[in-house]
Amino acid sequence: MKILTNYIDGELLPTDNHLDVFNPAEGTVYAKAPRSGEHEVNCAVEAATRAFVKWSRLSASERGEYLLRIAQKIEEHSEALAMAETTDNGKPLWLSKAVDIPRAAANFRFFATAIQHFASESHSSETVTNYTLRRPIGVVGCISPWNLPLYLFTWKIAPALAAGNCVVAKPSEITPVTAFMLSEICCEVGLPKGVLNIVHGYGGEVGACMTAHPKIPVISFTGGTKTGAQIAQTAAPLFKKISLELGGKNPNVIFGDCNFERMINETVRSSFANQGQICLCGSRIFVEESIYDKFLEHFIAKTRQLKIGDPLKPETKQGAVVSHEHMQKVLSYFDIAKEEGGKIVCGGKAFQGEGRCEGGWFIEPTIITDLGPHCRTNQQEIFGPVVTVTPFTSDEEALTWANCTPYGLSATVWTENLTRAHRFARDLQAGIVWINCWLVRDLRTPFGGVKQSGVGREGGWEALRFFTQTKNVSIYQ
Ligand code: NAD
Repeated sequence: MKILTNYIDGELLPTDNHLDVFNPAEGTVYAKAPRSGEHEVNCAVEAATRAFVKWSRLSASERGEYLLRIAQKIEEHSEALAMAETTDNGKPLWLSKAVDIPRAAANFRFFATAIQHFASESHSSETVTNYTLRRPIGVVGCISPWNLPLYLFTWKIAPALAAGNCVVAKPSEITPVTAFMLSEICCEVGLPKGVLNIVHGYGGEVGACMTAHPKIPVISFTGGTKTGAQIAQTAAPLFKKISLELGGKNPNVIFGDCNFERMINETVRSSFANQGQICLCGSRIFVEESIYDKFLEHFIAKTRQLKIGDPLKPETKQGAVVSHEHMQKVLSYFDIAKEEGGKIVCGGKAFQGEGRCEGGWFIEPTIITDLGPHCRTNQQEIFGPVVTVTPFTSDEEALTWANCTPYGLSATVWTENLTRAHRFARDLQAGIVWINCWLVRDLRTPFGGVKQSGVGREGGWEALRFFTQTKNVSIYQ
């Protein structure tokens, strides 16, 4: 059994209390992670506070050197990290290899170099020169979810460190293994002690302590909207700076004039990639009536071809969902959808794995039709391999329905009509809009949601601005 440790003040520290870590493809416990509490959070904050004095005074390129070494080590250990991510999360191994681990390395590489181009502004007049300093803030708290474990964990840590802060970070207790391996990498590259601290444990324990800690003035959080609200409630009276990347219920609007073949292939991906457990998956598909029947026929046929099962097999397109609890939640929506008058035209039940995966948590990719845009199935985030398909008759109707949830993370539009594409890009209530593509990412672009999908933006300069505080200096000549 693999026993994980915390990483505090440069040391891999064991704890007495542990929590179980499951392999979702088998439904078995295969590792134990520290169940930390206030004591461990306090030790981490003290270590980070001490480390901040020196770390924040290193030059951007000196800090960048450390981050580049971490990126390189992630690449060197990529096979082991990908295997760990798949074992921990249930996602297909090819996906961990192609996306999760390379992106974790890219996060460090990107911010290691970006920080060296992060310039301050100056504004001069006849008598006064103003320049704006962007200073590191201190100890920042980073809290991340289970769906893209190392990818999202490093997406916060890398810019926070590049900007000169020290970090106390908490990965999801459901998928903690690659975060632990990152702490081993930090030891390997000789990251100065206390600069990054990784404390494992439950959200309501470690996460809540971090959020309430008076010496953590910044919290960067990715996770559910409900948790985000709790964090905001604790952080607001403490005047903390917060960034919240929350849930979504993203629309995928498909017009009759689209490039059908490209659209259908990408729509299968945007619906079911990572078992639909990507905050950016398009879970509400709106299709122009003229191509509705054709769309449904092809979409169902392609979805049925997705091979479900052992995430280690290269032909597997759908691995396990992350936990038994999550599987139950997703399955419960099939009953809700039926009660609401929905028709399940593909999938709609758990999938029985074979061999070592007999006890695993698998769900058939599921397509539901005949639901109105305002029902629970179409309003609440399910976060699994489930989409609804609804026909529309006009641009106005499609836009109204696309915008009719409390969420606003991302949206996808398929059309060859340039004017319509621009109009939808302008009017969709979303932080990210993809036209004729999905999940095309450029790390320089702002990333985040509107409405209940979040507050603030990650990525590029936005992240470096978030992790620094500005100070304007005026000099009279
Ligand atoms: P979650 O909110 O349950 O947990 C996220 C993290 O917060 C975990 O590390 C958890 O331990 C911690 N946490 C839980 N309660 C806490 C508390 N009271 N105080 C502080 N920390 C606490 O979310 P999840 O189930 O791990 O992830 C799925 C959710 O994340 C979905 O809603 C998904 O849309 C969202 N998500 C959003 C983005 C984005 O960029 N907007 C990206 C990925 C996932």
